[in-house]
Amino acid sequence: MKVFAHAEPGAPAEEIEVERPELQGSEVLIRITNSGVCHSDVHCQDGYFDLGSAGRYELTAAGAQYPVVLGHEIVGEVVDAGPDATVQPGDTRYIVFPWIGCGQCQACQEDRENYCSGKKRNLSVQRRGGYAEEVHVPDECYLVPLGDIDPSFGATLACSGLTSYSAVKKIMPLPADKPVAVIGAGGVGLMTIAVLKALGHENIVAVDMSEAALKNASAVGASATVTVGGEDLVGDIVRAGGEKIAAAIDLVNNGDTSNAALFAMANGGTLVSVGLFGGQYQFPTALTAFNLLNIRGNFVGSLPELKELVQLAQDVDLPKPPIQEVPLTAEQVNASLDGLRNRTLNGRAVLVAS
Ligand SMILES: [Zn+2]
Ligand SMILES: [Zn+2]
Repeated sequence: MKVFAHAEPGAPAEEIEVERPELQGSEVLIRITNSGVCHSDVHCQDGYFDLGSAGRYELTAAGAQYPVVLGHEIVGEVVDAGPDATVQPGDTRYIVFPWIGCGQCQACQEDRENYCSGKKRNLSVQRRGGYAEEVHVPDECYLVPLGDIDPSFGATLACSGLTSYSAVKKIMPLPADKPVAVIGAGGVGLMTIAVLKALGHENIVAVDMSEAALKNASAVGASATVTVGGEDLVGDIVRAGGEKIAAAIDLVNNGDTSNAALFAMANGGTLVSVGLFGGQYQFPTALTAFNLLNIRGNFVGSLPELKELVQLAQDVDLPKPPIQEVPLTAEQVNASLDGLRNRTLNGRAVLVAS
């Protein structure tokens, strides 16, 4: 089977042939029809995440082995299944849950595999991902039926959608009129705004440095926008929300954005740190105490949360970010990653098999 692999950190994706696995137990092989290109793959292509003063978090330290096959927003159909699997090869399309844990630790036992502290099996990191013709999934339980959701949009639910949904759940419940800042209106930011809106939230302040991104934000449900670049970002955020913010979901999460969010926050507010741009918190620790602030991290989401999100997407017409469909080829993997890296891609790119 063909995969589009990066031979080493920084290398472009190249088409290579790898052996089709012999399936055991409830394993499944999925023919990929739609594969979203997510911003975190830009960092994965670089081979590391910036940890500020703590240096770098190398992909190999997370258990990746080169050549790596990135891509974790996968929709496809079963082409082969192990002897114990109940799914049949056929036309049913599934969203693949990619954030697979060890299956043994307490978090995995509690269906919170994204909190796994054991030997992770994330597709696109420790296992081959979705920039490929086919992907080997270790158990059929990780398949969520797509239903009548648009397949390219459905693909984006597996990471940007799930991350958004899980982050929003961490600030809820909250009165609908209390301001929530969404910092960064790229793919995850737009989904976050769409999920907040779908759950009935009314006061959503989108913050970004790009006017085009803020336009997308308004289109999916932001009630106010703030352009980064003025002299008083904190004041701009508070004015846009009408009062100090009750919560912020920070999809950029560098030192500047986390500080602005914390200084703009009302007592008892919650900052959810999501972005992987790298930086340091530099906020007076005593103010965290005085203002009773909560700082929470969010990394993707759990399988039950993906199922809830897919149900939500079936029930309501979630506003969709602009999606550019491109052919599922090595060339387009590279072009899409470059587009995200250089911020020339407006909205989302999804690779589609011919
Ligand atoms: Zn992602
Ligand atoms: Zn685990």
